[in-house]
Amino acid sequence: MPSVFIKTYGCQMNERDSEAVAAQLVAKGYSLAPSEAVADVVLLNTCSVRDMAEQKAIGKMQNIAADVRRHRPDVVLGFMGCMAQSRGQRLIDQLPDVDLVVGTQKFHRTADYLDEIFSGRREKIVETGAEQGSEGAIKEHILNGARQHAAPVTGFVSIMQGCNQYCTFCIVPYTRGEERSRTMADIVAECRELVRGGVKEITLLGQIVTSYGKRDIPARDGKSAFVQLLEAVHEIEGLERIRFTSPHPKGYGADLVEAYALLPKLCPSAHVPAQTGSDRILKAMHRGYTRARYLEIVRQLRRVQPAIGLTTDIIVGFPGETEEDFAETLSLVDEAQFDNAYLFKYSPRRDTPAATMPDQVPDALKEQRHARVLEEVNAIGLRRYAEQVGRKAEILVEGPSKKNPARLMGRTRCNKIVLFDGGPRHLGQLMVVNITRAGSFTLYGDPAG
Ligand code: SF4
Repeated sequence: MPSVFIKTYGCQMNERDSEAVAAQLVAKGYSLAPSEAVADVVLLNTCSVRDMAEQKAIGKMQNIAADVRRHRPDVVLGFMGCMAQSRGQRLIDQLPDVDLVVGTQKFHRTADYLDEIFSGRREKIVETGAEQGSEGAIKEHILNGARQHAAPVTGFVSIMQGCNQYCTFCIVPYTRGEERSRTMADIVAECRELVRGGVKEITLLGQIVTSYGKRDIPARDGKSAFVQLLEAVHEIEGLERIRFTSPHPKGYGADLVEAYALLPKLCPSAHVPAQTGSDRILKAMHRGYTRARYLEIVRQLRRVQPAIGLTTDIIVGFPGETEEDFAETLSLVDEAQFDNAYLFKYSPRRDTPAATMPDQVPDALKEQRHARVLEEVNAIGLRRYAEQVGRKAEILVEGPSKKNPARLMGRTRCNKIVLFDGGPRHLGQLMVVNITRAGSFTLYGDPAG
């Protein structure tokens, strides 16, 4: 059977989709190649959120095609994911060496498409249509160390796909389609299976997880479908930690805030994307909340979980953003005191309303504002991380550190990375460490305590 190499760009949802496609192919007898240089099938799972991500994937495919076609003309080259969905046939028109384009609702059919290409039944395949029920088709995992040094202790479970929010800067509703949620029973069964395989921490994934089941599952005792799902997953014996991403601030009703107090397995960490601190820009972005409401959510979360780890996304240079608007963003960052923030310079995406809005901000100004907010985020992060030194923290040890494999890496319940010198006996363990030092968005620990 052929070997496959999948390179993933973009978000955790893409990582999860790639893992599921890899697992489906392994189940069919494919092996996983360590690099594109030796693979029989090379798939790039692409991201469309910023133009740079698209250009990177196109450039990568050009390089692979130039190399592979010279020495190994039979290698199958394919695109999957958001850019595959939005560009479709145009990708093959631009890069004729590409054989396969798999849209975001067709991941689970990748093995069939490869069969058709290898058997010669079809030469080129572009499949980007909508498919009912596809949200339930991403459930395979690679467990038992097929890719890792040890069986993974953290697992990602896709609970819904798509987004109906239509933020004016975002391409996701066009590449991932309408919100579609899996059934609760199906999700809980997948989580149980992961826990049986040794997983201790599960992250529930979706483009807008807090909208989970909004149309299909009625609220019960004032609890949204998403909170009901958290409660159902919380029941799973052997599961130690629950996280979720990405939520929308609109989803932080009283029920979700309360869940942080009532569900001990729900980790006290939240990624709440603010995007901007200016009400005028929030409106232009079609975010559906105000600055005051956002800060109220932050206060409510800190009231129920004072040590909660809070992170956010910020976009600078949205069309029409004035110095006053930007000052509001800086002051929101200051008031919210985030542990970390992902900062983006606004990048116009085709077919989104913001791309044609007047008063686009010049790149040099975006650059300046990015640097200023980055400085603020770093200063706050440095202080918040330094506050951890001398404390004890429970970590779940995930494996060797990516940068220095001689060290082990674990995550606190508040989602901070801790590096420490440990041995094989620590792998996969929940353990308490003394925090001895803080670096840039990293903590260092001593397991002796
Ligand atoms: S809620 Fe998130 S995924 Fe949905 S349109 Fe807005 S930014 Fe995009």
